[in-house]
Amino acid sequence: MSTTRQDLLQAFDALLQPARFKDYGPNGLQVEGRAQIQKIVSGVTASRALIEAAIEARADALFVHHGLFWRGQDGCVTGWMKQRLALLLAHDINLFAYHLPLDAHPEWGNNAQLGLQLGLHASARFGEQDLGFMGGRADGGSFASAAALADYVKNVLNRPVVQVGRAQSAIKNIAWCSGGAQGYFEAAIAAGADAFITGEISEPQAHYAREMGVAFIACGHHASERYGAPAVASQVAAQFGLDHQFIDIDNPA
Ligand SMILES: [Zn+2]
Repeated sequence: MSTTRQDLLQAFDALLQPARFKDYGPNGLQVEGRAQIQKIVSGVTASRALIEAAIEARADALFVHHGLFWRGQDGCVTGWMKQRLALLLAHDINLFAYHLPLDAHPEWGNNAQLGLQLGLHASARFGEQDLGFMGGRADGGSFASAAALADYVKNVLNRPVVQVGRAQSAIKNIAWCSGGAQGYFEAAIAAGADAFITGEISEPQAHYAREMGVAFIACGHHASERYGAPAVASQVAAQFGLDHQFIDIDNPA
């Protein structure tokens, strides 16, 4: 089965509704490739390694969370940008990228899918553009301590995590926001979280966690954003009967 580039773009846009977001880069078709698409490869970041893997997998389209173009770039096609673009263009591969719309989708997005992995149920949203998810354990239980929650996250995601703050008391209300959402910590505290899970921590959040008695858990930017792209790509691939393959390029950050 196959579809056209344009129909595929319309399907991604219909699902993710990029017009609703103020974002740091363009959402949608970032690099135009061949007109007819049979196979989609999804991944977290349009790195050279992922592009090479997509070429190897004979993809017609790559669907990612982190595309190539961001606000604040100088616009020059040099270095890593030249290498990545050259590969995409030489192999006529379409690059579709969706950033905040992919974080936010209530069912297939990064936050929803991270919650699913962690056995968390969201009952509310918080923070700028409603990107933060707030809830607790899907079974209604709580974690005995922040250390117990951190240990649990470490085991589920199979990677080390950083935990700061709230040493002793139980954790019931859990807020989470995938990726580099450390700036959402204060909004999570204001929304009543006992713990906040995101990908990265910066220096100030360690102090806020200690001073406010709210646990901060950093579980890795990549690790927290590994689930949305394959979920969305497989949904859309199924609509058209296309092949889909998720390729995880490991990233310790
Ligand atoms: Zn990210």
